Amino acid sequence: MVPAPEDIKLPSHSLKFICPHCRRKLSATPEQFGTEMPCPFVNCGKPIQVPEPDWKSVGGGG
Ligand SMILES: [Zn+2]
Repeated sequence: MVPAPEDIKLPSHSLKFICPHCRRKLSATPEQFGTEMPCPFVNCGKPIQVPEPDWKSVGGGG
């Protein structure tokens, strides 16, 4: 039995975004923000650039 997405408790600071290749909903952990990761869907699996959320504090250091 697969739990519905609504029943899954996500970390408070997870980011939801859409895979540009398969248009499915994904979520990323803070460690993944701004990095590249493969799409977890087996029929996609393409590299995705994880966006950084607006609420993430932006430092000026670069
Ligand atoms: Zn995908």
